[in-house]
Amino acid sequence: MKALVYHGPGKKSWEEKERPKIIDATDVIVRITKTTICGTDLHIMKGDVTEVKNGRTLGHEGIGVIDEAGGAVKRFKKGDQVLISCITSCGTCEQCKRGMYSHCEYGGWLLGHLIDGTQAEYVRIPFADTSLYHAPGGVNEDALVMLSDIFPTGFECGVLNGRVKPGDTVAIAGAGPIGLAALLTARFYSPSELIMIDVDDERLRKARGLGATQTINMTGVDAVKRVMELTDNRGVDVAIEAVGVPVTFEICEDIIAAGGHIANIGVFGEKVDLHMEKLWSQNITITTRLVDTVTTPMLLKSVESGNLHPEELVTHHFPLGEILKAYDTFSHAKEEKAIKVVLENR
Ligand SMILES: [Zn+2]
Ligand SMILES: [Zn+2]
Repeated sequence: MKALVYHGPGKKSWEEKERPKIIDATDVIVRITKTTICGTDLHIMKGDVTEVKNGRTLGHEGIGVIDEAGGAVKRFKKGDQVLISCITSCGTCEQCKRGMYSHCEYGGWLLGHLIDGTQAEYVRIPFADTSLYHAPGGVNEDALVMLSDIFPTGFECGVLNGRVKPGDTVAIAGAGPIGLAALLTARFYSPSELIMIDVDDERLRKARGLGATQTINMTGVDAVKRVMELTDNRGVDVAIEAVGVPVTFEICEDIIAAGGHIANIGVFGEKVDLHMEKLWSQNITITTRLVDTVTTPMLLKSVESGNLHPEELVTHHFPLGEILKAYDTFSHAKEEKAIKVVLENR
């Protein structure tokens, strides 16, 4: 079979690799039908994620069909259409019992990280019964691919941790795929204002189309001053950080209202100043989280009922065999006006 293989920082190839085999009786082999590229994959390509070793197949998102099921797998059989979760969970360890699957003692973020991932014709999924979902029929397949990672991430780490409530004023720093997923799922709670902050006019235009009430291009603009003007100097009830760099986190610290929540989603590679001299008396909460994908069943129902349209974030389609071209497009997102790219294995 063919797979997208990482060969150290800056080096990857679409190459022939041995088809994965069942190792444990709880495994299944899935034939991938659709997958995508995540911002995290670009971090891996830069060498930021040092646990990813030379020879690893990348990818932690996708949908497919069960090709082979191990003897202990109860809920899935050959031919079933499935949604793959970016988080693998054993379902029985202490962390899984707490619903914190991201820190599962035997799972967590394995795919395209510690074991071979989904950017391939076939992938092995451990703990299939507790790490896969049956894909409902008649649902947009691109929407399902967006539920592997970005929608549970935007919703759990941003919206739920930020405690978005009806009538709240919400600001999201970063209008990439995750920020836009947070925007779409924040709308479940009908906040009164949804302010998007980014550096890319095209993404902000997209955000307005998806329900942002205000957008701020922070290039050459004092974003903090602008948010304070828009909120009568009160600040926002919820500030969601969806980039992972100090400047956007500090904006969140500067715009948070008394009693507010700063919900971090961004993957940080460097330290950030925490302005306790301003925040100590403000009754605020700061949260961090790795996605647990505990909300995937609920998001699936929202998609099935037509209340959520994750496919709106998909801007490009490529055949799986053109994945190198897709990486090129995704890594030049601004020039290519790309948000999410979907790869199809037909
Ligand atoms: Zn991802
Ligand atoms: Zn576990």
